[in-house]
Amino acid sequence: PLSKLSNVGTTIFSLMTQLANENEAINLSQGFPDFPADPELLSLADHYIKNGFNQYAPLGGMLPLKEQIAQKIENSHGTVYHPDTEITITAGGTQAIFTAIATIIKDGDEAIIFEPAYDCYEPTVELFGGIVKRFRMMAPDYTINWNEVKNLISDKTKLIIINNPNNPSGKILKENDIQELIKIVKDTNILILSDEVYENIVFDGNQHLSICQYHELKERSFLIASFGKLFHVTGWKIGYCAAPKSLTDEFRKVHQFNVFCVNTPLQLALADYMKNENNYLQLSQFFEEKRDFLREGLKNTSFKLLECEGTYFQAVKYDKISDKTDFDFAHELTINHKVATVPFSSFYKDKLNENVIRLCFAKKNETLEKAIENLQKL
Ligand code: GLN
Repeated sequence: PLSKLSNVGTTIFSLMTQLANENEAINLSQGFPDFPADPELLSLADHYIKNGFNQYAPLGGMLPLKEQIAQKIENSHGTVYHPDTEITITAGGTQAIFTAIATIIKDGDEAIIFEPAYDCYEPTVELFGGIVKRFRMMAPDYTINWNEVKNLISDKTKLIIINNPNNPSGKILKENDIQELIKIVKDTNILILSDEVYENIVFDGNQHLSICQYHELKERSFLIASFGKLFHVTGWKIGYCAAPKSLTDEFRKVHQFNVFCVNTPLQLALADYMKNENNYLQLSQFFEEKRDFLREGLKNTSFKLLECEGTYFQAVKYDKISDKTDFDFAHELTINHKVATVPFSSFYKDKLNENVIRLCFAKKNETLEKAIENLQKL
């Protein structure tokens, strides 16, 4: 039969959004804002579309945008990527992840991932003949035992995929995690894919530790980020991959035959908009208020709020409310209580059920208020 991914169905994000729409439920499942992007960004897009910037971009991306990205990384992390040879603009984070994995993984290569894991990592590794080894982070703390991670390494290990801040748990890596990772990869040829699409959404005064701040890691890493998350335009599907030249050269060999290049006028709009640092430096505070609004609303319910250090997702445990599996509970919540969420088991290979669901708080306060009202009835 014609199936390279026989165990894979439609992603949980599409399923839950469809279920939300069918049931006219408040959609806190798929992660996207329900409020508009800044009118200034939208009028920049309009400007470039109307003024003739509508043909192919160079395959690596428009130089002004790559320059702004390099500047942002330098300002935030004090390290330099060469805009022309070390940054590639992609059709969103997911395409960058796909292309990086396609660049790295051959038949029989092993990749280590951390569960709960964003759903595209594993199928993509398998599509290219790779074998996935998992370290399982568990509720409520989702901590990493690095000795166990070390035991997953073999002479076939080609890649470690990290996601920081982590979707769906909302946990961030701390200095000691990074130091352990450095020790593990030292004197090996293991590459790292660092999915940092929520890099600018980190709470409570915590600092986001990017892979690129550590030269032992930077030299072997594909750093991936996304404008959809940064500027509330998930539908624009523009992200990027920053990596040392030797890795970028290989990445672009694949990229050129996958999408070749991405949307020209929107790249130029993003480049202009990025010049004002405030357009992204205020993001943590903006979402921290929404996180707190949601947490406050659920405080006196039977939902148990897990820690949320970053991303725009709040994990909650519902074992005091129901003993249903998280998948069944999420369905019931959507159909009967009109709030759509994502069951955490979707982020575990063997559907580990810890009675945890994920709520997206990238929503207008009035949307969150309605959801809270419904959830308070449980
Ligand atoms: N990143 C988004 C989330 O975690 C979903 C993206 C998608 O639908 N593929 O909800």
